[in-house]
Amino acid sequence: MANLHSSDTHNDHRVALVTGASRGIGAATAKRLAADGFAVVVNYAGNREAADAVRSDIEQNGGQALVVQADVSNPSEVKRLFDETIDQFGGVDVLVNCAGVMDLAPIGEMDDATFDKTVAINLKGTFNTLRQAAQHLRDGGRVINVSSSVTRLLQPGYGPYAATKAAVEAMTGVFTKEMRGRDIRVNAIAPGPTATELFLEGKPDHVVDHIANLSPMERLGQPDEIAAMIAALAGAHGGWVNGQTIHVNGGVI
Ligand code: NAP
Repeated sequence: MANLHSSDTHNDHRVALVTGASRGIGAATAKRLAADGFAVVVNYAGNREAADAVRSDIEQNGGQALVVQADVSNPSEVKRLFDETIDQFGGVDVLVNCAGVMDLAPIGEMDDATFDKTVAINLKGTFNTLRQAAQHLRDGGRVINVSSSVTRLLQPGYGPYAATKAAVEAMTGVFTKEMRGRDIRVNAIAPGPTATELFLEGKPDHVVDHIANLSPMERLGQPDEIAAMIAALAGAHGGWVNGQTIHVNGGVI
């Protein structure tokens, strides 16, 4: 334990900012990090009620949470997100980039608006928060970017979505090196199909069953299972994991 900093072993008074924390994997992550002792910023885009429900849940369990609306694709809103976090909680130690959208269509049929939205939120959104993190993350901090196992599955219909996630993985590697000297670890996690609105919306039952059965575990992942790995990377046990993309997918690929 000699090489662990005190900030590695005690999460109390550490601050985690989770984008897209009103629903799905981000909501599960916010609750899990709060249970692990972090003060948590619950970011959302439009769904205030869901974000407030996450805050209430955290507070009822004795944790500390702040809800901040900000569209991650907008640089000035992301700057305000960091400013409000620092004003309220004094700093930022952990950034989890969970905000994302997944609108699917074959490349030959996809319209420009869908392509642009996918890139703006999934890729530019991650860039916007990383830029702020570079300026504000405290020494000893952690960054966890959420990619996807589609970067390996490469199914039809996932073109721009998979491309944004592959770009996030590339930026994760570069950002790791740019954090040299600051004791900051940067990783990506790549979940497989996980039971959230993003995955389930618009898919008939037989399609969901087919995709669930691609995994040798013969089921979808649950948001809590993804949050558990994010929490490991954010906590003391993740101290020697840096610059990696960790696939958390039940063995689907
Ligand atoms: P989800 O249930 O649809 O939740 C999406 C979250 O992102 C919501 O909190 C939403 O906020 C937020 N969001 C969307 N656009 C935003 C924006 N412009 N600015 C800020 N927040 C925004 O999705 P999920 O399944 O939990 O996905 C979370 C992440 O995991 C995404 O990056 C996704 O690509 C990735 N992922 C998911 C799966 C899967 O199978 N579910 C697999 C691999 C990777 P509002 O509630 O305000 O709309």
